[in-house]
Amino acid sequence: MILIDGKKAAAELRAELKEEVTELKSKHNKVPGLTVILIGDLTPSQIYVRNKEKSANEVGLKSEVIKYPDSVEEKTVLEKIQELNSDETVSGILVQLPLPKHIDKQKVIETIDPSKDVDGFHPMNVGNLSSGYESSIPCTPLGCYLLIKKIEPNLSGKKAVIVGRSNLNGKPMTQLLLKENCTVTITHSKTKDLKAECLEADIIVAAVGIPELVRGDWVKKDAIVIDVGINKTDNGIVGDVHFDEVSKNAKALTPVPGGVGPMTIACLLKNTIDCFKRSQI
Ligand code: NAD
Repeated sequence: MILIDGKKAAAELRAELKEEVTELKSKHNKVPGLTVILIGDLTPSQIYVRNKEKSANEVGLKSEVIKYPDSVEEKTVLEKIQELNSDETVSGILVQLPLPKHIDKQKVIETIDPSKDVDGFHPMNVGNLSSGYESSIPCTPLGCYLLIKKIEPNLSGKKAVIVGRSNLNGKPMTQLLLKENCTVTITHSKTKDLKAECLEADIIVAAVGIPELVRGDWVKKDAIVIDVGINKTDNGIVGDVHFDEVSKNAKALTPVPGGVGPMTIACLLKNTIDCFKRSQI
């Protein structure tokens, strides 16, 4: 079984991006800039944002974090986004989710200029991705996609089963694999026989949020299994895939932690650089 090392893949991607930033700097005399807006003091969000800032600095991006207290008015945040939209030194804008209840998430997402939407959540980017046009692609599914391609460069005709239909993970993952000519089944909480669906799959991507949902006898021999889940349990952090069982059948499997997670941040940097490149055309 191939243990898909997301840490190593992310380090390789960051090294490539660092080189690219150096080239862009000498060509344009400026570097791509990422601005993150962090609202409130939720510890996981603070940790994510700190890691994003550290990685952005590591590859040579200009990085800025704007912090607001939980009580900030929605209007203040929307005005700041508009200001960043017209700031030429800002290539990518990310508003860290979740947001306090009084702030409308969709309004925030739709205020970000689609050409600076490094999360790929703006409806214009969602539409472009599903139409097969160039777009920002949500970071986690993009990371999954790059890991899958490392194992199997030619995905044409493969049967993929996506477990979970969130806008963040399942739906964009489906679009990425469709574009690769996979036959994709998207499953969710109302799917009748999830085990039977998974048993058909050459590729399984599990993004559910239920610890160890995907069991060893759900997985065809030689399947590639990507585990997006991050679940806190009494036994520590586990994924949506039962690692010990599935590792006995699968051809390749991502661990949790150390699989998809590190790729998510590396793909955020990639998206920022891609937004910068598109803005220079
Ligand atoms: P979500 O809650 O938005 O969506 C979960 C999906 O799972 C839903 O579409 C639901 O229909 C489906 N589902 C629920 N129960 C099911 C069942 N019994 N069988 C089949 N499908 C079922 O979740 P999300 O935001 O997509 O996140 C999923 C997991 O991925 C979470 O554990 C989250 O922490 C993790 N995550 C990891 C990263 C990363 O960087 N590795 C990034 C984002 C999310």
